[in-house]
Amino acid sequence: MKFAVLTIFPEMFVPFWEHGIIRRAAESGKISVSAVNIRDFAEGRHHVTDDRPYGGGCGMVMKPEPLSAAIRAVKADMPSARTVLLTPQGRIFDQKTACELSSDEGIIFVCGRYEGVDERVCQGFISDEISIGDYVLTGGELAAMVIIDAVTRLIPGVLGGTESAEKDSFSQGLLEHAHYTRPRTFEGTDVPEVLLSGHHKEIDTWRLETSLIRTFLKRPDLLKNRTLSIQERKILKKWCADIENIIRDQPLCGTDPLSGSQ
Ligand code: SAM
Repeated sequence: MKFAVLTIFPEMFVPFWEHGIIRRAAESGKISVSAVNIRDFAEGRHHVTDDRPYGGGCGMVMKPEPLSAAIRAVKADMPSARTVLLTPQGRIFDQKTACELSSDEGIIFVCGRYEGVDERVCQGFISDEISIGDYVLTGGELAAMVIIDAVTRLIPGVLGGTESAEKDSFSQGLLEHAHYTRPRTFEGTDVPEVLLSGHHKEIDTWRLETSLIRTFLKRPDLLKNRTLSIQERKILKKWCADIENIIRDQPLCGTDPLSGSQ
C-alpha cells in the first residue's frame, strides 16, 4: 500500500513514520509513505499556498493552483490511488472504513489548513472526503496520521503473530474483552481465576462475556445494530434471568416518589 500525504507541514510526518508498527511496516515494504510539500508546487518567490476568501470574511483559503498541481504530480505516480480530502465535512472515519481502505493499492491524502481548500479542488480532484470526528482541527495532518495508522494495522502481515486486528474492538462489532498481565495480584486485585485455569473454552466464553458486558455498558448502540450469535443470545438471556431473580428475591423498601406507593 502506498500512502502519499500532501501538506504544507511535511516535517510533522517524520516522527510518525519513524516509530512502532508504521516504521516496521515501511521497513518490510508492506507500506510506502511520503509527505509531499504543497509549497513546492506554488509559483513565485514566496511559494504562497493560501489567499483571502472571495466574498470577504475571516481566515484564508488554500489556493487551487498549487494543490491541483501537487495532486496531479503525485497521481502520475499512483494512478489507481483514491484522493482523500481530510475535512470535518466528510463521512466519519470508523473501523469499517479503515477495513475498506486497507485493500486499496494507494491513497493520496490532502491536508487542508486555514479555512479549508478552494471548492474547485474538492470538485475536480477529490474522490473521497473523510472526517475523523465531529470537531474541528487546525489541519488535516493529524487526521491523515490517524487514518494511515488504523489502515496500516489491517494490511495483511503488518501485525506480528502475537498481535491481532481480528479481535480488536469494532472488528467483530463489539468492544474487545478485558486484558490482564503479570503480576497476578496488583494492589489487592487479582487476575480473574478463569484466565489462570488453562481451559481455553472457558477463557473464550469469559472473554465473549466481558466483551458483551463492556459493549452493553459503554456502547449499547453497537449491540442494538448487531445480529446476535446463538451463544451471545444465551449470555444476554442469562443476564436477564439473573437480574429478574435479583429483583424478585429482594424485599422492597421505601416509596415510589412518583406514585407514593411501594
Ligand atoms: N472551515 C472548515 C469547516 O468549518 O468545515 C474547517 C477548516 S479546519 C480549521 C482546517 C483543516 O483541518 C481542514 O481543511 C481539514 O483538512 C482539517 N480538519 C479539521 N477538522 C477535521 C476533521 N474533523 N477531520 C478531518 N480533517 C479535519
